[in-house]
Amino acid sequence: MVRVRFAPSPTGQLHVGALRTALFNWLFARQTGGTFVLRIEDTDVSRSSEELTRTILEALKWVGLDWDEGPIYQSQRFENYRQAARRLVELGQAYYCFCLPEEIDRRREETKASGQHWKYDRHCLRLPESRRNKLVEKGAPAAIRFLMPGGKTEFDDLIHGRISVENKNLEDFVLLRSDGFPTYHLSVVVDDIESRITHVIRGDDHITNTPKQILLYKAFQAELPKFAHLPLILGPDRKKLSKRHGHTSVLSFRDQGYLPLAFFNFVAQLSWSPGREERIYSREEMIAEFSLGHISKGSPVFDLNKLQWLNSRLINEMPVSELMTELRPWLEKKGLELDAWLGERKDWLARLIEMVRPRSRTLAELADMLAPFFSDRVSYDPEAVQKYLMDTSLEHLLPRLKEDLKKVEAFKADELEKVLRSRAEKEGVKAAVFIHALRVLLLGRSVGPGIFEVLEMMGKEKTLARFDNLAEARKVIEKVTEVKNERNDSDNL
Ligand code: GLU
Repeated sequence: MVRVRFAPSPTGQLHVGALRTALFNWLFARQTGGTFVLRIEDTDVSRSSEELTRTILEALKWVGLDWDEGPIYQSQRFENYRQAARRLVELGQAYYCFCLPEEIDRRREETKASGQHWKYDRHCLRLPESRRNKLVEKGAPAAIRFLMPGGKTEFDDLIHGRISVENKNLEDFVLLRSDGFPTYHLSVVVDDIESRITHVIRGDDHITNTPKQILLYKAFQAELPKFAHLPLILGPDRKKLSKRHGHTSVLSFRDQGYLPLAFFNFVAQLSWSPGREERIYSREEMIAEFSLGHISKGSPVFDLNKLQWLNSRLINEMPVSELMTELRPWLEKKGLELDAWLGERKDWLARLIEMVRPRSRTLAELADMLAPFFSDRVSYDPEAVQKYLMDTSLEHLLPRLKEDLKKVEAFKADELEKVLRSRAEKEGVKAAVFIHALRVLLLGRSVGPGIFEVLEMMGKEKTLARFDNLAEARKVIEKVTEVKNERNDSDNL
């Protein structure tokens, strides 16, 4: 029976790379009817925090990854690691090391100075029995080191194929530090054995740790799991994905208005593609299609455009009722109560969403587009105002159009178009002058759905009222100019 685990260290936010590890483990478990274990690797007490653990769990839940066992907290298992290390000493697979860090540093420097490669020199392995006993009696601080055997360690990585290292190139690494804290190698192997993990699926950065861990499994006489190391994710510049490339924490994508299923698809398709067709897969489809054997060795490149594409596609394909549920918190953030519109205006709202969603890549953008239809407080984009609302002729053109519109009884797109075009003709101006001006006046921005649809959806009363916003809209230009002047003044100081 497949048993896999995801084992994040809560020393930072959960980022895209770690989420891909979690996701592949989860997909594999769900596909095989196996068990997905969550383990929090918080042995580094000074760098781990409960708050970060909480955000990691929150991120997993947001993407829709549920676990079957855990979270197991390593910080609650220190005694297990200590006992395990002592057991290896008893088995002759590990030994006590009393060397002080300063002594080791000095010997390392000496070795390096003589042009040799340093690895722990087994000083304490060679201590005479009596000396060792004396040190133990005195209570001298002691670490426990693994006794590296000779020979080779080999394994078949499910992604990278056969990997082989000469053990003589590895040192007698520390299992338990002299302060009683385990190192990563010890805790990870003790826990994976205890959780009966069958497949270790994790990032490439752990590939060099694997031989040491395999040797530990052998020392404990435990059955070996299979290993699959996922290739490193690169940024668009083909360097390791990092903060330099912008947001990489999972929750930051939620906070920018991405839908969990879009993000799920995006991350799942880093290193693995379900089929030739570019589309959104449901979680169930992904589970059915997933294959550990088809993960590519090459490093995937993180492409934000793809995420935006997936997100807007999902926004446009989703049933409107579901989209409304997703939108609720975004509208609430703007002080807009969706419920007030759900009663008799439900159909209007659905039509409105249909109208604006083709232009929205995120829930945030969608909420921004919807806001001017609900609220009378329009936020004006200075650039749009500058481009389309500053012409002084608008001061007489707009009131005339307003008068025309007042007379329209059935406020429908077709009729409104006729009225606007005939006013333009009478004034000898292009219809576009009115169209652009109205879009900015009504929506605060220069891009949006077809203006006649917008007028119809806005309704007569709101549309007419917004004609009076011209002066207010123009004020944003003054504000921007003031800010610029202030900046220039302070630059000149
Ligand atoms: N805690 C390790 C990390 O966050 C993962 C250890 C493992 O998967 O073996 O990188």
